[in-house]
Amino acid sequence: MRLAAEITGQVIMPGDAKYETARRVWNGMIDRRPAAIARCATADDVATAIAFAADERMPVAVRGGAHNIAGNATCDDGLVIDLAGLKRIEVDRNARRVRAGGGVNWGEFDHATQQDGLATTGGLMPSTGIAGFTLGGGLGHLMRSYGLACDNLLSAEVVTAAGARLQVDAEHHPDLFWALRGGGGNFGVVTEFEFQLHEVGPKLLAGRIQHSLADARDALRFYRDVCASAPDELIVYGSLATGPDGNPRLGWRAVVHAPLAHAEALVAPLRAFGSPLLDDIRPQRYLDIQRIVEPAFPPGRLNYWKANFVDELSDELIGILVDAVKRVPSPYTIIAIEQMGGAVARVAETATAFQHRRPAFSLLILSGWVNPADTDVNVAWARELWKLTSPLSSPAVYVNYLGVEGQQRVRDAFGVNHERLTQVKQKYDPGNFFRFNQNIEPAGSPSP
Ligand SMILES: Cc1cc2nc3c(=O)[nH]c(=O)nc-3n(C[C@H](O)[C@H](O)[C@H](O)COP(=O)(O)OP(=O)(O)OC[C@H]3O[C@@H](n4cnc5c(N)ncnc54)[C@H](O)[C@@H]3O)c2cc1C
Repeated sequence: MRLAAEITGQVIMPGDAKYETARRVWNGMIDRRPAAIARCATADDVATAIAFAADERMPVAVRGGAHNIAGNATCDDGLVIDLAGLKRIEVDRNARRVRAGGGVNWGEFDHATQQDGLATTGGLMPSTGIAGFTLGGGLGHLMRSYGLACDNLLSAEVVTAAGARLQVDAEHHPDLFWALRGGGGNFGVVTEFEFQLHEVGPKLLAGRIQHSLADARDALRFYRDVCASAPDELIVYGSLATGPDGNPRLGWRAVVHAPLAHAEALVAPLRAFGSPLLDDIRPQRYLDIQRIVEPAFPPGRLNYWKANFVDELSDELIGILVDAVKRVPSPYTIIAIEQMGGAVARVAETATAFQHRRPAFSLLILSGWVNPADTDVNVAWARELWKLTSPLSSPAVYVNYLGVEGQQRVRDAFGVNHERLTQVKQKYDPGNFFRFNQNIEPAGSPSP
């Protein structure tokens, strides 16, 4: 393929030794065979790959950390523009800013910024790409203090479908800057991100508390009350999942972004509740906190997710969740409740493309299993639970948790900002060249 001679990175083709590994994404349910994978090393490589695909009329998928559940980082028979070679990270300690390449993941990002005691809201999995995560919004442990990842985005370098290299920030291409903060990968390839950083750690008080399922209803009601009055410094995630003893249990994961001397008082009520099966809350390195959930989500496992935001964790909803985990067909499945609020909610709904800032929680049904023969039963369980919870949830959903769920769900993800996003799409990608994503069709496109 002539592209191989035109880029400084690598082109990986079917039959190459690296192809089988390079075509895989995090979700083992996705099994696609691109015609070629352009592993770009520079922004020029990205522009060249875009021009090549346009000339050859090849569909294009863009790959950051390849974590999205829908598998949009790859495609059948097209060209994958893989940013794995764009790994530069440059921290400006004095300005508390960082520039990071489009192929950096959160493990690499956190490691680099923590050298200077800095961080920004980032992914809970080290292998998640900063790119897809930030472009969709970015919910993380620090969000109640500092907002979403996209709220900390200061500027971006973008290569458009027409091959233009744009420096984008609040003053330059402000419409595109608005759309990049929550609108996903619809508008071009981001080759570099610049973020605001904050003093974090090196240690924070954090860890897990777990209760038996018999106590789960009371514990979740208590959790609801704790969340309602929590200061920004405290974030608590809830979960229902199978414990090491094979029985379902309720879990909390708390992270306190406050000086250690004050932090204990903030988690004291959680620690005093009931008779926990586990309490490993202790001062931990921020870098270790950012890996706590990693063992639960190995790459390659089969996954099917459903999600919605939730305005109120009602008793009825709690009852449905607790009953559902008793019937869960796989020990790897997790029902996750993510506390929102704090700084996330203090940004106006139309200030960035990410609208859904007011809900109290995000509810995530993370179905995971190993044997392909178990696919139907696991997907059916997740769909049934989602159907039961939907009337008690908001129709709104986080774009980064969407599978392949149709255009209405994409509209639900972008909410009041959808219309404006279609106009930005029309301006920067009128031919819908970037369409392997939660797709925003250009304004004026014929209705499907
Ligand atoms: C185990 C697990 C845990 C997660 N936890 C969280 C969490 O706590 N909070 C949260 O907010 N999300 C979480 N996510 C969801 C995560 O935000 C999304 O999966 C996100 O899309 C991952 O970004 P990525 O770069 O790894 O993905 P990719 O699959 O590479 O990309 C996602 C989308 O962005 C596009 N894209 C990627 N890179 C670029 C680029 N440089 N320029 C333009 N478009 C690009 C892709 O084409 C694709 O459409 C989690 C996901 C997993 C699998």
